[in-house]
Amino acid sequence: VLEKELSSSKLYVKKFGGTSVGSIARIEHIADKVAKAFFEGERQVIVLSAMAGETNRLFALAGQVDPKAHARELDMLVSTGEQVSIALMAMALHKRGVKAKSLTGDQVQIHTNSQFGRASIESVDTDYLQALLSQGVIPVVAGFQGRDSNGEMTTLGRGGSDTTAVALAAALSADECQIFTDVTGVFTTDPNIEPGAQKLDAISFEVMYEMARLGAKVLHPDSVSYAERFKVPLRVLSSFEPGEGTLIQFAGCAPTKAKIVGIATSKSLALVSLQGLKEQDDACAQLFHQLAQLGVDIDLMTKTQHESQMLSFTLAESALEQVLSELDALSSRLDLGPVYVEQQLARISLVADGTLAMAEVAASVFDTLGKQGIHVKLLSTSEIKLSVVIAESDLHFGVRALHQALALDRV
Ligand code: ADP
Ligand code: ASP
Ligand code: MG
Repeated sequence: VLEKELSSSKLYVKKFGGTSVGSIARIEHIADKVAKAFFEGERQVIVLSAMAGETNRLFALAGQVDPKAHARELDMLVSTGEQVSIALMAMALHKRGVKAKSLTGDQVQIHTNSQFGRASIESVDTDYLQALLSQGVIPVVAGFQGRDSNGEMTTLGRGGSDTTAVALAAALSADECQIFTDVTGVFTTDPNIEPGAQKLDAISFEVMYEMARLGAKVLHPDSVSYAERFKVPLRVLSSFEPGEGTLIQFAGCAPTKAKIVGIATSKSLALVSLQGLKEQDDACAQLFHQLAQLGVDIDLMTKTQHESQMLSFTLAESALEQVLSELDALSSRLDLGPVYVEQQLARISLVADGTLAMAEVAASVFDTLGKQGIHVKLLSTSEIKLSVVIAESDLHFGVRALHQALALDRV
């Protein structure tokens, strides 16, 4: 009878982020929540991040030894953070009389490809998890990590525990995947930048994916695309405050007039410009081929032609050194001409729920930022988004001005 009852009760995969398990007191608080649900008969799989600051600390340690450390060893190192959280959580649950077992990604058999530092989940074995659930044991799984086909430890990229949670929810056909964090849901923009940001009750997968990809770190972009692909009900909630949070859902019918739903931001960008590129040869192709091989993510890009060609692109500041040395190596061979670099830049992106009237939006962006004396260095648009690159020091002013101009504080 007990087993039947267990298997008919709802199944939730609940992920708690770094701040939510950032101290022993917070781990005890989460353990209280999980134990309460357990004694109410809910079936749960818990996914945890490393304690707040731990992953950064580990990366910094590696940096002290070798800034060019091998990606395999970095993954071995940074995946330890999650192991600390899951073991402590299992202990806290045992203390409350709850059956629980901490598990690494390897033990669960979360299979990924072999791209160290940015691996993708390919499949998840559910046998072990199902067996534990049917015995009334709560699996407490390390987020952010998996194993490749050679048995090597891999990690999913910063913020990747969200994706672990969604992948487990998909594999187990959970009733909902709940991402518990330090804000009460998904907002019109980062509430830590704009206090007037409004919480959204629901957001479409499409808009959420763009927001995440463009820097809204409340959800890892892969978690959103994975949830959409496998139709996982996905919700973002607060670990500390009650509430329904934000549901990520399939869009209803297309809006009659597209409107901007949110503003995403990204910092620590650099802009590289190459002037005087020769037109006749394939310098651009060779250049980007080389950057692709290095795994450098190139963002906004423009290529213009006046008397000679000018090529500009943005990238993460952290990749700049590597890219400049590559350009240096290519320079004489391809006759690249002078290279200009600007650093400490940021990007603000407006994301809409349908096709925007771009000229109108661009006009209002230039107008709003211009009034603040903020200079737009680069602008790019796609169907549902518009991004501008500005100085990082202007980021907060720019976001607040646009948030107000677009009346997002009144949604
Ligand atoms: P966790 O450690 O729980 O995974 P993260 O720091 O990764 O938490 O994500 C939560 C943070 O995301 C919030 O504290 C907030 O500053 C930031 N954030 C950025 N954009 C948004 C947004 N549109 N809505 C909510 N939070 C956002
Ligand atoms: N601990 C990892 C990070 O800080 C993964 C995560 O928190 O989701 O990026
Ligand atoms: Mg996160």
